[in-house]
Amino acid sequence: MDQPLTLPPGRDIRLADFDPGFTEGLDREAAEAETRRHCDKLDELAYRLFAEAKRAVVVVLQGIDTSGKDGTIRILASGISPQCLDVKSFKAPSALELSHDFLWRVHAAIPPHGTIGVFNRSHYEDVVVVRVRKLVPKDVWQGRYGQINAFEKLLHDGGLTFVKCFLHISKQEQRERLEERLKDPKKQWKLGPDDLADRQRWDDFTQAYDDALSECNTAHAPWHVVPADKKWYRNLVVARLVRQTLERLDPQFPKFDSSLLTKLD
Ligand code: ADP
Repeated sequence: MDQPLTLPPGRDIRLADFDPGFTEGLDREAAEAETRRHCDKLDELAYRLFAEAKRAVVVVLQGIDTSGKDGTIRILASGISPQCLDVKSFKAPSALELSHDFLWRVHAAIPPHGTIGVFNRSHYEDVVVVRVRKLVPKDVWQGRYGQINAFEKLLHDGGLTFVKCFLHISKQEQRERLEERLKDPKKQWKLGPDDLADRQRWDDFTQAYDDALSECNTAHAPWHVVPADKKWYRNLVVARLVRQTLERLDPQFPKFDSSLLTKLD
């Protein structure tokens, strides 16, 4: 089955139409070799973005628990110098954050020009988990789709490029990953009381993601559905997407002032 990663805006997205186990026919070895090539190139492109210091990129990572957000960040961090990278994790909002509009903390976390931000969860929690756990009334979360689109457009027009990735795993794969966490003393800490309760609401999360992805898949900030049952394929897709985005931006070193050549004694 062929599988587009990026869908034209305006089309309804149903996650059930995407195979989380898709690997475009690649095996692990070939995928890892290609990922390494993308990461090598990423380092150079990120450095150019940093030197140019006129634009920024934000990679948004969303997905159900255990979908691999942390692992994806590790791969990007393996390819990009820390000075060019800004990783931000969005947890349940603090009392201060809740006393502002839902985008306040997100706007504050937008990286400066020259930097690649990686969002481990994001403002999409405010139309997904908030909806599923009924933390705000329906008319509030429904109004947020338009607010998110306007916010992303504002940032886009200011020189920010979003790479929005939904890490798509199957319910069976999540079961295996949760089981591993339950058994492995080095991973047990990752399990919170909400994780198993959220699994009971798998269908509600899927519905909330279908709607969020459909409503906020815009030309200026499209969504990508990343097949993520195979970690090595997920890594490849995200590394490739970020590389392609930076190549499209084609950041340039600032013009060199050649008069400096005469000033070194
Ligand atoms: P993670 O699962 O990302 O590794 P945690 O175990 O600390 O990290 O979980 C963070 C929790 O915060 C998740 O359950 C997530 O749904 C929740 N969260 C994030 N943003 C919001 C929000 N805006 N409103 C409510 N809950 C949120």
